[in-house]
Amino acid sequence: MRIVFIGPPGAGKGTQAERIIEKYRIAHLSTGDMLRAARDAKTPVGVEAETYMAAGELVPDAIIIAIIAERLEQPDCQYGYLLDGFPRTLPQAEALDAMLAAKGTALDVVLELNVPEEELFQRLAGRGRADDQPDVIRQRLVAYREQTEPLLQYYRQQGLLKSVDGIGTVEEIFHRVEAVLDPYAC
Ligand code: AMP
Repeated sequence: MRIVFIGPPGAGKGTQAERIIEKYRIAHLSTGDMLRAARDAKTPVGVEAETYMAAGELVPDAIIIAIIAERLEQPDCQYGYLLDGFPRTLPQAEALDAMLAAKGTALDVVLELNVPEEELFQRLAGRGRADDQPDVIRQRLVAYREQTEPLLQYYRQQGLLKSVDGIGTVEEIFHRVEAVLDPYAC
């Protein structure tokens, strides 16, 4: 199963992603986690990414696309994966399509976790991560609205988009997620 997981910062993607990879036994490819690991290890990519992350801005497409291209070559990806936080821009989505086409594969489904913006700010402000300062949060929400939301239309046109309501308990939301993903499980 090859899934793209889209949702604004604070929608609860991380929590649902944990459940999804456990139930469907697929690899978890979180570009945010990869970038935080690179930043903490002070690799050249990590050092460059840090400036953007600290400002709540997106890291340049070329960096992210190179990271994902390398990650998709790892053996664990052959059984499927959940792309969490990637793609976040149209060029990233197009690059992903090209990578998959070159491998003779395609996405099964794009899952959107839908949470209204008013709710997100409250949730993020309570989380305490380094990029959860109020003006950085605001910038991350702007980046989502301006650069990532257009992807919903891109995937809707391809007939891949399924949206799930992200308001409720973790359990309630996971039931909605399962209802969408179960038909694609083998
Ligand atoms: P996340 O944990 O997914 O919210 O990602 C944390 C930060 O990493 C984001 O605010 C961006 O600065 C950066 N980042 C993660 N994934 C991407 C991506 N696909 N494209 C650009 N920047 C990204």
